[in-house]
Amino acid sequence: MRAETIAKQRSRRAAAKRSSPKRQAGSQRVRERNCSVARTLDILSDAWAFLVIREAFFGAKRFETFRSSLGLPRATLTERLKRLTEQGIFRQERYSETSQRVDYRLTEAGLDLYPSFMALMQFGDRWLVGPKGPPLRLIHNTCNSMCHPVVACSACLEEVTARRVTYRDGPGAGFSYIHPARRARRSSDPSQYLRGRPSSVSNTLQMIGDRWSFLIIREAFLGSRRFDRLQAELKIASNILSDRLARLVTTGILARRRYQNQPERFEYRLTDMGKDLYGALITMMAWGDRWLSRDGPPIGLTHRDCGKDFTPVVICDRCHKPIRSHHMRYQLNYDPQDFGAPEVEHPGNTGVSSA
Ligand SMILES: [Zn+2]
Ligand SMILES: [Zn+2]
Repeated sequence: MRAETIAKQRSRRAAAKRSSPKRQAGSQRVRERNCSVARTLDILSDAWAFLVIREAFFGAKRFETFRSSLGLPRATLTERLKRLTEQGIFRQERYSETSQRVDYRLTEAGLDLYPSFMALMQFGDRWLVGPKGPPLRLIHNTCNSMCHPVVACSACLEEVTARRVTYRDGPGAGFSYIHPARRARRSSDPSQYLRGRPSSVSNTLQMIGDRWSFLIIREAFLGSRRFDRLQAELKIASNILSDRLARLVTTGILARRRYQNQPERFEYRLTDMGKDLYGALITMMAWGDRWLSRDGPPIGLTHRDCGKDFTPVVICDRCHKPIRSHHMRYQLNYDPQDFGAPEVEHPGNTGVSSA
């Protein structure tokens, strides 16, 4: 299975890093809960990497196409494509037998990120759009309808919400030791997510794509509401925790409520908007479970409505069939010329065409 390939590649690289003498000197490792969302986010919390993947969903395959639609410096784009290829999201394919140049194509794992993008997009469409409405309208070829993606239970195909799901430790539960540099790594400047075409996925990631913010939201879904508890669960420095909590309150994802007067103490609860991130969260978690967990899923999910264990699937609200990138068409609710969007080389090849 390709899922194993990615996990194995990673552990090989990790082993290589561990054996490097430079790394060993003075590196204190940090214990962190195994979490497929965090693993997925390690890829998407890099705004450039995210944008490159998004353009691939819009049909980009060639270096110059990525570069012109995103306006990235060559060195940055080269580095990101290389990293995403190592991470198993892209594979390289020669233009032709005689050419040295390569196309970058999404692998199976890369294409499988599509439902996560759809779930993030739905959130952005619901909460973060201006008066002109969502930037894209989706048409599902399978039923030929304008549709909205819905995160559903794989067993009963009904929509899932946080309240109707119970969690338990899965086979991959537990903690791993990671290098603190990975935790400390700053996410790229969040405004970078907004480069290129308008996108509800970008709008969403601009708010939550920071690794700590996302982990705080995850803990909120798992029931942590208080500063001390969040700090204990995440092993996060208090100044960073305060900063991220304040930001999440400002953006309307968390609400701050006093629960004690002397001394004054506050707790943080997900707002309706915050709760609506649930679909995106479990969809990304499922991707990480499929492609990045060596020991099986860290968390098992049970849908209370049908009583079955499930994996989240993103389905069409009209025909209830799972949504795949090659089944979708788009209508742009903006003029692509305004954003320097190039012609797609082979419309429809990835199943993605700009209408
Ligand atoms: Zn169900
Ligand atoms: Zn449909």
